[in-house]
Order: sequence, then structure tokens, then C-alpha cells
Amino acid sequence: MLTRILWFLIVLILFSLVRKLLSSLLGSRKTSNRRRTSSGAFQSQPRTISGQTYKDPVCGTYIASSIALTERINGADIFFCSEECRKKYLESRNQQQNDISAPGE
Ligand SMILES: [Zn+2]
Repeated sequence: MLTRILWFLIVLILFSLVRKLLSSLLGSRKTSNRRRTSSGAFQSQPRTISGQTYKDPVCGTYIASSIALTERINGADIFFCSEECRKKYLESRNQQQNDISAPGE
């Protein structure tokens, strides 16, 4: 009779230990899986701003036509993300024109 009770207690203790172990294992797994995916997913998807987007030829950034700086060159509108990029583009263009015209003449 006494041994039966002892066995029952031992089994009970073992069960509770196993359950604790399992829950701690599952618990740690759950927390490790819970990563911040919301911010990563948000960044990976390219957001299209209303209206057309154009590529800045200087830095390669895509800018919406509504916020871009424009420069009309040879009848075509070229869009820039900033004044700095527009300056750079115009400077490099002037240099190219000088390089082409200088050795020819
Ligand atoms: Zn730019």
C-alpha cells in the first residue's frame, strides 16, 4: 500500500518535471521564432508614390515627378532628387561637351 503511494508520487513528480522541461523548451522556441518581421517586410516592398517615378541619372534614386527637380536637356525632361545631383549632372555634361569639341577643332 505504501509503495503504491510512493510510486504514484514519483510518477507525479516525473510527469511535472517532464512537463516543465517541455514547456520551457517550447517556450524558448516560440520566443526565438517571434522575430520582428513587420518592419523587415515593410522595407523590402518598394512603395510606389502616386504619380510617375523617374530615375535620377546621377545617384540612381527613383523620385516622384511631383517632388523631383527637373532640367530640360535636348527637349527631354530629366529628373533629379536634389539640387546637388542636378549640378553634378550639368557639370559632367559640360565637361563631356568640352571633351568632344576640344580635340575636334
Ligand atoms: Zn540624386
